[in-house]
Amino acid sequence: MQSQTIAQVLTAVGRNVAPVDAQMLLQHVLNVNRTFLLTHPEHVLTSQQAATFLKLIQQRIEGWPVAYLIGKREFYDLIFDVSEAVLIPRPETELLVEWALELIPDNKPSNILELGVGSGAIAITIAKHRPQAHVAGVDLSVDALAVARQNAIKLQADNINWVAGSWFDELSDRKFDLIVSNPPYVAENDAHLQQGDLRFEPQVALSAGLHGLACIMHIIRLAPQYLSDAGWLLLEHGYDQAAECRRLLEERDFSNICSHPDLAGIMRVSGGQWNARADCNRFKPQ
Ligand code: GLN
Repeated sequence: MQSQTIAQVLTAVGRNVAPVDAQMLLQHVLNVNRTFLLTHPEHVLTSQQAATFLKLIQQRIEGWPVAYLIGKREFYDLIFDVSEAVLIPRPETELLVEWALELIPDNKPSNILELGVGSGAIAITIAKHRPQAHVAGVDLSVDALAVARQNAIKLQADNINWVAGSWFDELSDRKFDLIVSNPPYVAENDAHLQQGDLRFEPQVALSAGLHGLACIMHIIRLAPQYLSDAGWLLLEHGYDQAAECRRLLEERDFSNICSHPDLAGIMRVSGGQWNARADCNRFKPQ
């Protein structure tokens, strides 16, 4: 095969794959940054590189998410390894992290719990930004926990303890100042599960019962047992679940309940405070 340049292989891809996806795949194959790619159109690929790139483009055309093909995804201010064992971190989930960071003090220790860590993106970002916090990260999937552990090692987040188990099952009588979760929340017959990236992601991390609320209901019901006084529960949920989440929190006697919109203006995270009256100022947003 005749040797090809960066400009030639990108042109050959044409409209079959979004240019930004093709560029990310080529960056991955050549192990270069985007600037190199854009400023060295005449750079020649080895035949091995050209073949690998072509294979990745083929997989992308079949629908494989770019994050799985290159094995990583940026989230907040860090880059996480991902595999098919974990959900690909989403930009809307950064909102959950932002809210958690607003609530977690940066000048004293606190106990934080993440339920359903997947790649570990939420737990690790919190742990890195709040080095005094003790973070516990739970996941049912040992394969997901292996990815999360690996990410924590790579990103040098050593204030996290990983727990294999279902939701609260392995936490005995521990108490937390803040519990955060992006649980599965897509309704099991939702057509989106058959579309785009979701087709390739672990269904156990995505769908939860007929209305998608099974896990959210379970977490809200049990959380008070594991929250310190004035502790917070923050949850990501589906585009149409904010009112129901707030109702469930209210029914379980949480206070200071509120929801926040994502960048698309969709109410995407909701949360509330447990036993807030006992110690109003201890763990409240500024
Ligand atoms: N936000 C994801 C999606 O709908 C779902 C993630 C989840 O179920 N926690 O694409």
